[in-house]
Amino acid sequence: MGIENAFGDSFISTRLNEAINWARKWSLYPMPFGTACCAIEFMATVGSHYDMARFGAEVVRFSPRQSDLLIVAGTVSEKMAPVLKRIYDQMCEPKWVISMGACASSGGFYDNYATVQGIDRIIPVDVYVAGCPPRPEAVLTALIKIQEKIDSKQAPAAQTA
Ligand code: SF4
Repeated sequence: MGIENAFGDSFISTRLNEAINWARKWSLYPMPFGTACCAIEFMATVGSHYDMARFGAEVVRFSPRQSDLLIVAGTVSEKMAPVLKRIYDQMCEPKWVISMGACASSGGFYDNYATVQGIDRIIPVDVYVAGCPPRPEAVLTALIKIQEKIDSKQAPAAQTA
């Protein structure tokens, strides 16, 4: 008799990687780097109507050391660029980044010397969200894309083996 037959439906088996990724993807701690109007739309996304808690990511942190998902929402000026880089560097690995909206992703219509023409010039970006501002549904879709990315990632223990 196999072990599954002995215990029936009372236990499940999995691999360590998958268990770690499952826990990570359902317990993301977002940190918003909100600088402009997209940040207002992000507030709608975490509100009760759109209910980001369904994805285990409703506990917003304002300390980079307690966050693993940076959501850049708004225009980033050259003056703020070092601040964004410092905050990203302060987050522990593994970490992910969502670039929310046209301004964060490309500078938007602020095509001038004072505005960063896309945050990927400063930090790596995992998912870009189009829109000015993007609708909350689009931000939730980006969150699901991050979850899929986590799912496909090998946990550090397996990478070093
Ligand atoms: S993309 Fe549009 S809504 Fe978002 S910060 Fe820029 S101007 Fe504001």
